[in-house]
Amino acid sequence: MSNVLVTGGAGYIGSHMCVELLQNGDDVVVIDNLSNSSTASLEAVQRITQRELEFVDGDVTDADVLGLLFADHRFDAVVHFAGLKSVGESVDDPIKYYHNNVNGTLCLVEAMSAAEVKTIVFSSSATVYGIPSKVPITEDFPTGAINPYGRTKLVIERLLEDVYEADPSWRISILRYFNPVGAHPSGEIGEDPNDAPNNLMPYVSQVAVGRLPYLKVFGDNYPTRDGTGVRDYIHVVDLIDGHMKALEFLEDAPKLAVHNLGTGTGYSVLEVLDAFQSACGKTLRHEIVGRRPGDAAESYADPSKAVSELGWQAKFDLARMCEDAWRWQSLHPNGYSSEGSAD
Ligand code: NAD
Ligand code: UDP
Repeated sequence: MSNVLVTGGAGYIGSHMCVELLQNGDDVVVIDNLSNSSTASLEAVQRITQRELEFVDGDVTDADVLGLLFADHRFDAVVHFAGLKSVGESVDDPIKYYHNNVNGTLCLVEAMSAAEVKTIVFSSSATVYGIPSKVPITEDFPTGAINPYGRTKLVIERLLEDVYEADPSWRISILRYFNPVGAHPSGEIGEDPNDAPNNLMPYVSQVAVGRLPYLKVFGDNYPTRDGTGVRDYIHVVDLIDGHMKALEFLEDAPKLAVHNLGTGTGYSVLEVLDAFQSACGKTLRHEIVGRRPGDAAESYADPSKAVSELGWQAKFDLARMCEDAWRWQSLHPNGYSSEGSAD
C-alpha cells in the first residue's frame, strides 16, 4: 500500500487514476486548483470506490501550499496530471501555459526534492512528436512539438531528464499519451470539457446527446484509407492501467523511462463516427469541412516498449471506448453540472 499525491486529480484522467489507486488499496491526496474541473468528480470517485480521499484546493505553482502539503504527508509517489491542455488557448496565451505547466512542474519537483520524494509519473503527450514522418511512432522518434502546449510538455520532459542526470536516485516515468477517450464503466466519471470540445470523441458525444448540432469533419483528402485523419484512441481505463504498471516499474530501481501509451491501432474520423453511432443507436449528422491547421494525417503508437518493459497492453477496443463514453454522456448530458439522463 502506498501514499500517492495526484496533482490534477479532479480532472478527466486524474479522477480515473484516483479510482484505480483507491481500489488498489492506496491512500490518495489530490491537489487541484479546479481551473478545469470541480469536486463533483471526486465525490463520484468516492462513491464508486466507497473510500475517501483527501482533497487540497491548491495550485501546483504555489510553493507555500506544496511546502505545507509535503510537510504534512509522507508520499511514496506523485502522479502529475495538473496542467492546461488546450492547443488553441496555448497559441493565444503561451505565457499562461508556460507559467502553469512548466513553472507548476518546477515548483512540484522542487518541493519533492526538498521532501526527498523522488518518484514521479508525468503526463506527457504524443504531441511532442509533432507531425511524424512515418507511423507507427516509437519513443526514439525525433521530437518537435508544433504549438506552445506541446512545447511545454517537451520542456518538462527535458527538466525531468536534467533532474535525473544530476541525481540518478530519482524514479521518473514519462508517459506519452496518444488519444485518451472513453469513461469509467460505471458511467459516474468521464470527460466534461468546460467549453465546446476541441477533441473528436467528446465532440461526437455532445452531438449524440443533442448539445451540438453536427460534427465537422476536418478534411477528407488526407492520404489515409478514407481520407480523414487517423489517430490512436485509447480507453482511459487502459491508460490508467499503464500508470499503475509504471508505478510498479519504478519500484524496481531508480531510473528515467519514456513510454508511449497507445493501442498501436489507428482509426479514422469516419470510423470513430461509425463506432459511436453503433454505440448510441443514432445516426449523427456530419459535414466535411476544411483541414484543421497543424493536423497530422496519421498518428499512432508503436506500444511495444510499454508492452515489454511495463508488461502493459491496452485491452479495450473502439466499440468499448464509444460504449463507455456514451454511457457517461447519456447519464450526464451536461457533464457534472447535470442531473437526470438523456433519452
Ligand atoms: P483535465 O483538464 O481534465 O485535468 C487537469 C486537471 O489539472 C484539472 O482538474 C485542472 O483543474 C488541474 N490543474 C490545471 N492546472 C493546475 C495547477 N496549476 N494546479 C493544480 N491543478 C491544476 O485534463 P486531462 O485530460 O485529465 O489531462 C491530464 C493531463 O494529461 C494533462 O497534463 C494533459 O496535458 C495530459 N494529456 C491529456 C491528453 C488528453 O487528450 N486528455 C492527452 C495527452 C496528455
Ligand atoms: N477532428 C474532426 N472534427 C472535430 C475534432 C477533431 O474531424 O471536431 C479530427 C481531427 O482533425 C483529427 C481527429 O479528429 O484527425 C482527432 O482529433 P483530436 O483533436 O481529438 O486529437 P488530436 O488531433 O489532437 O490527436
